[in-house]
Amino acid sequence: MLAGADVTLIEASDRLGGAVAGADVGGVRLDTGAESVAARGGAALALLRALDLPVVPPAASGAWLQTTRGAFPLPAAGVLGIPGSPLADDVRRVIGGRASLRAWLDRVLPELSIGRVENLGELVRRRMGQAVLDELVTPVVANVYAVDPMEAEVDSLAPGLNGALTRTGSLSAAVLALRAAAPAGSAVQGIEGGMHLLVPALERDLARFGVPVRMRTPAETLRRIESGWEVALAGETLTADRVVLAVAGGTARALLAPLLPRAADDLADWPDAHRTTVVSLVVDAPLLDAAPRGSGVLVARNVPGVRAGALTHSSAKWPWLAAMLPPSRHAVRLSYRGAAADDVGEAQALADAAQLLGVAAADLSVVGSTATQWRQESQRALIGMRRRIERVRESAAELPGLDVTGAWVAGTGLASVIADAERAGRAA
Ligand SMILES: Cc1cc2nc3c(=O)[nH]c(=O)nc-3n(C[C@H](O)[C@H](O)[C@H](O)COP(=O)(O)OP(=O)(O)OC[C@H]3O[C@@H](n4cnc5c(N)ncnc54)[C@H](O)[C@@H]3O)c2cc1C
Repeated sequence: MLAGADVTLIEASDRLGGAVAGADVGGVRLDTGAESVAARGGAALALLRALDLPVVPPAASGAWLQTTRGAFPLPAAGVLGIPGSPLADDVRRVIGGRASLRAWLDRVLPELSIGRVENLGELVRRRMGQAVLDELVTPVVANVYAVDPMEAEVDSLAPGLNGALTRTGSLSAAVLALRAAAPAGSAVQGIEGGMHLLVPALERDLARFGVPVRMRTPAETLRRIESGWEVALAGETLTADRVVLAVAGGTARALLAPLLPRAADDLADWPDAHRTTVVSLVVDAPLLDAAPRGSGVLVARNVPGVRAGALTHSSAKWPWLAAMLPPSRHAVRLSYRGAAADDVGEAQALADAAQLLGVAAADLSVVGSTATQWRQESQRALIGMRRRIERVRESAAELPGLDVTGAWVAGTGLASVIADAERAGRAA
């Protein structure tokens, strides 16, 4: 019984948690999906704390950028990689003096060219030049939000930026204004022991409230009946007053399409979720003790010889993980956007890790590795998708007792997903 309701949880796979998952690699349990949570909004952190999970910040060492010119610390005062101070040394080091000067022109370009802007990449290119787009913004946006900035909507990825642009008259000043308004402290937090601990904590809560969990039971169809809803499972049906649909986007849209004929156009031809493969490596490597690339590396396009889009030096980022490993043993994870797990072998990951960490592959002695394939629902950040999603949600809201949530409508990332799931839970 939850708030007076009998709840049943239906899960298609053989485990709960979706993209929050762990795997044993080289004797430690590592996150293979989400590994941190954005502090913004507060709902996700509040949930972790309510579950008595130990919330911890990452180590202070920042991330690096690997561009075609070399490896550099990620400039400090930015939003989505857009520099607030284009002439700052840390920006100049990445893009060079000329490109830095070009970016600074943003300060003197006519304000008239600023209006409410939709296309993030276009905005950056117009105000600050191609180098800022290619070498600073694209590595951040493509790897953190899994979209190309040239396809990304400003209001989705940087709420408040358009307003700040109008107020301040330039992109760099708008970035500085957003930074000044951001709360102090780390923008992301983790769980001591790994984000995967969220799943057993929620399972304990489900058990405490006596919620039956049906594993390996995909919901196949959803039908409105006089008394509420009928959910068809393989070989049986469940009836319920209310349904919270919290499944992957493709499945949700297939279940919703027959129920929402008015939203047929919006539901059709949805952009695909991105396939992403994460390779987790545990290595013995004394050269990594000094954390040569801080918490990890975001990779710009066209860096010769590197296939990974990002590397996280997990044991440098999370002190609790370093404490679990023997001396000079390290955990590293690499993300491959668009790649299937079968396409990324350990040898490829090792070569990428060596190049991105600035050591030789022979300096990394592999203790264990695993590759995990995921689908990232990052489409909400694409231009026009927020309005489309709102129309779908408005249609769904006309059906009493149905609520739709999950990254495909709420946006990718646990902060968005958890806040929206709580809203859906309250509505139900
Ligand atoms: C590699 C990777 C790294 C990430 N890193 C971070 C990070 O560090 N921080 C962060 O905040 N976010 C991160 N994210 C994003 C975040 O993990 C996701 O946005 C979030 O987990 C999505 O939650 P969801 O419930 O929408 O979908 P999912 O997590 O995919 O869960 C969907 C669930 O629905 C089940 N299901 C599907 N179909 C059916 C059906 N027909 N019937 C019943 N059940 C069904 C699935 O089995 C699954 O359990 C990462 C994502 C990936 C892939």
